[in-house]
Amino acid sequence: MIIEIDKEYEKTVRQIREWIIQNDCRPDVLYGDLFTVIAVEGDATRLDKEYIENYPGVVRVWRISSPYKTISRKVIGDKHQKVERKRMTVRIPGPDGKDRVFRDGNPIFIAGPCAVESYDQTASVADALSGLAEKYGIRHRMMLRGGVYKPRTRPWDFRGLGEEGLDILDKVRDTTGLPYVTEVMAVDQVCGLSQRADMLQIGTRNFQNFNLLEAAGQTGKPILYKRGMAAPLEEWLSAAEYIALQGNKNIILCERGVKSTTHGDYNRSHIDFDVIHAVRNRTILPIVIDPSHSAGFSELVPFQFAAACVYQANGTMVEVITDKIERKNIQCDARQAVRIHVYEKMIQAFLDLEKIKMEFRE
Ligand code: PEP
Ligand code: MN
Repeated sequence: MIIEIDKEYEKTVRQIREWIIQNDCRPDVLYGDLFTVIAVEGDATRLDKEYIENYPGVVRVWRISSPYKTISRKVIGDKHQKVERKRMTVRIPGPDGKDRVFRDGNPIFIAGPCAVESYDQTASVADALSGLAEKYGIRHRMMLRGGVYKPRTRPWDFRGLGEEGLDILDKVRDTTGLPYVTEVMAVDQVCGLSQRADMLQIGTRNFQNFNLLEAAGQTGKPILYKRGMAAPLEEWLSAAEYIALQGNKNIILCERGVKSTTHGDYNRSHIDFDVIHAVRNRTILPIVIDPSHSAGFSELVPFQFAAACVYQANGTMVEVITDKIERKNIQCDARQAVRIHVYEKMIQAFLDLEKIKMEFRE
């Protein structure tokens, strides 16, 4: 529901805000030049439209018909009325005192091993990343990744170190100052992980695990939410509402490739870059690209990474290993990890590409 109020009637805005909260919904107040608009989030079906219309200063009230109301950018009413919301800024405080801010024009570099496999492996990657962050002046844009609960296609494969892996991530965060994201796979992991991780990842296989989405949403933590590997955009965004409806719009969408005509012979899945524009036009959420899981082969990753910059994604998430680690010793996604010296070249290319103004609007 959208309520448009004459800008002069501040008391009405306050009263309606209160009333919405009393009815277990949330008011998102947008201040315009002539009108103040309140977008109601939550189950607005129980709110009486005529009751609100009687407040002094209320110009119009309409119900909205978007299937993803809470995160949509343009809110369209039943009589085709439109309101445009501002894009979300998602902020991840770093232990080094620097916030990683997901917003337009400030792409974030998330990198690290697929899985936390040992202290030495994780610490060596994180140290190298921290070194790059300093060298290129991008510390405020760099984060660490590493899974401790791993979704694996085959149950006998390495499934992560669990708690022991978290201890490693905590330690490495302390020594490098880089905040970390890690995947949560089940509702009973949410509480423990949310007390320690800086951002929770919900992976492609859990994209419609609605209980998990709600539980993760309730923590208020930023959520890196991946697209289901065969998910149409509308299903993905509708499922993101499960998080947002918990009062948590700190959601970063992540495109990681979808199943298509190719699978395995020359890439792992098919990356849908165009979805970046669709997400930005339709929602208030930032979107990042994970070229590692889409490419599946380390030699393709840099090209997809560069394309993510050209497409003006809000960031990238890349699986990175150090030069010393032997691929045959990696237990998870060995083939797609890029070596740190290649990642450095990728960052250089990304920073160069960033300088080019790509404005193709008519
Ligand atoms: C991952 O990022 O480690 C992962 C398992 O990714 P996805 O859910 O995209 O397969
Ligand atoms: Mn992986």
